[in-house]
Amino acid sequence: MPLYRDVGVVVRTHKLGETDRIITIVTQDSGKVRAVAKGVRKPGSRFGSRLEPLSHVQVQLYRGRNLDVVNQVELVEIANSLRSNLEATTDGLAMCEVVEQMAHDREPSPHLYRMLVGALRQLNSAFSPLVLPALQLRLLAAEGVGPCVDQCIVCGTRDDLCAFDIVAGGAQCRTHKRGLAVSGEAMNIVQSILDGRVAVVLQRAETPTVVVREVMDLARTAMEHHLERRIRSSALFKAPQAG
Ligand SMILES: [Zn+2]
Repeated sequence: MPLYRDVGVVVRTHKLGETDRIITIVTQDSGKVRAVAKGVRKPGSRFGSRLEPLSHVQVQLYRGRNLDVVNQVELVEIANSLRSNLEATTDGLAMCEVVEQMAHDREPSPHLYRMLVGALRQLNSAFSPLVLPALQLRLLAAEGVGPCVDQCIVCGTRDDLCAFDIVAGGAQCRTHKRGLAVSGEAMNIVQSILDGRVAVVLQRAETPTVVVREVMDLARTAMEHHLERRIRSSALFKAPQAG
């Protein structure tokens, strides 16, 4: 089996047999890779705890037909605060999950790797509840399906935007309001994130909790909508032809 090296983030693990684990890694150059880590659940395993979700690792893998096999693992960085803060851990795992869903098997997507590593570093250095929604929104923008929040999707006005309808595609003014009520402040934060001004949003002192909650809900709804649509369209694509 050919041997190759890559860097990546462990996004998921599950048990295999008595002592092994299957590790899913979103890598820089090889896309999403699933690999067997042999003996990793035995005490004193040479891989230790390096193959846990959230770990940023350099790996050496044997290429298999379906599953690769882990040969070597080194930690690229140690994210101690990420693991010692429960909120940061929870959001970090949610970020791993969403990037795993966006990534395709063995299809290089260096931007997904880069965006996930950047967001995890941000969580590790200074926790903010806005890191997770910012990643979700930027992932959608990178896919070309970022929500429209700077004008009303019906009449195009930029004034008095007060609602958001994900199925219709974005923000609505007071006249055309049909979706969920969203404050102007939350709409501005989402727009700043989509414009690439994440650092400014994260550095802003004290965004009110209710506004943070609105941004989180909007980003999560938009991401769920995108993933469901993608699953539906691939199911349709794979369905046997009628007649
Ligand atoms: Zn309107």
